[in-house]
Amino acid sequence: MRILVTGGAGYIGATAVDILLTQGFDVTVLDDCSTGHADSVPSQARFIEGSLLDAHTVREALTGASAVLHFAGKSLVGESVVKPDLYHEVNVHGTRILLEEMRTAAIQRIVFSSSAATYGEPVTTPILESAATSPTNPYGETKLAVDNILTQEGQLHGLGAISLRYFNVAGAHKSQRGWLPERHDTETHLIPNVLRSTPDKPVKIFGTDWSTVDGTCIRDYVHVVDLIDAHISALQKIQLGSHEVINLGSGRGYSVREVLSAASSALGHQIPAQDSSRRSGDPAVLLADIKKASTYLGWTPTRDLLAMVTDTAASFQLS
Ligand code: UDP
Repeated sequence: MRILVTGGAGYIGATAVDILLTQGFDVTVLDDCSTGHADSVPSQARFIEGSLLDAHTVREALTGASAVLHFAGKSLVGESVVKPDLYHEVNVHGTRILLEEMRTAAIQRIVFSSSAATYGEPVTTPILESAATSPTNPYGETKLAVDNILTQEGQLHGLGAISLRYFNVAGAHKSQRGWLPERHDTETHLIPNVLRSTPDKPVKIFGTDWSTVDGTCIRDYVHVVDLIDAHISALQKIQLGSHEVINLGSGRGYSVREVLSAASSALGHQIPAQDSSRRSGDPAVLLADIKKASTYLGWTPTRDLLAMVTDTAASFQLS
């Protein structure tokens, strides 16, 4: 069975490609390498370097595929605020092109990388899939727009789709060729910043006066390998004509200070850190309710924060 992995040269997509190949799937990768890296794509995968916005390229990439794992897209919240049109063009219009080409090719199964950003500021914690959606930035808006399009495609054209709403993805996968690290030009995520913190450039703790146990924000981190296991389960569970939305997190919250302490354990030294003011747009707590992932996908995350930090450090060759 051949799977088209869009965005397969990126951090999460490349992890999916490697795990799919080891499980015996055939894989085609479509990636424009705007943020992904061609050298992340193994030679066993068919690789098409091109854009989702180019229907001919998408058609070629779909040849022989039975299903699509759709990771490709712009994914930086801050950038989305500055360039909302770019985010709508790539994430929403690009997905429309993909869905049109899938329909033409009679490919009826898709798993989509959605996001907790679709919910916006949580009203209740932990967040259930039935919670109100009210994104607070264009990135979240584009993910929600695609979720809605997928529902419509199921109703109108019989597509089978599962949107997986990621919370904070972390950790790394060790392939036979070595680690597949998170590689961003501008790194905004906490765990990479903590691991790269130095006395000269200490990591900033964005807010120490939140109403949480230790005053720092709480997030729900999930290991990228657990995340991909959930995608592979989702592929098998898709029902034609229906669209399911499922949260992916660990169902456990960790504060920024707990992340720092796990990183100290992983690296064997104190992490230089500096208390700083709150980052705009950050909610105090983001925590997933993952019961649906367990009942619908039969999935339970198995890797804890220490494993995520240790694997990220190894992928950065810091340990
Ligand atoms: N954070 C921080 N310092 C950093 C980066 C992030 O204190 O250099 C905090 C951020 O305010 C949030 C948490 O760490 O509470 C996770 O942030 P990240 O950007 O990794 O993911 P987000 O939750 O924003 O998707």
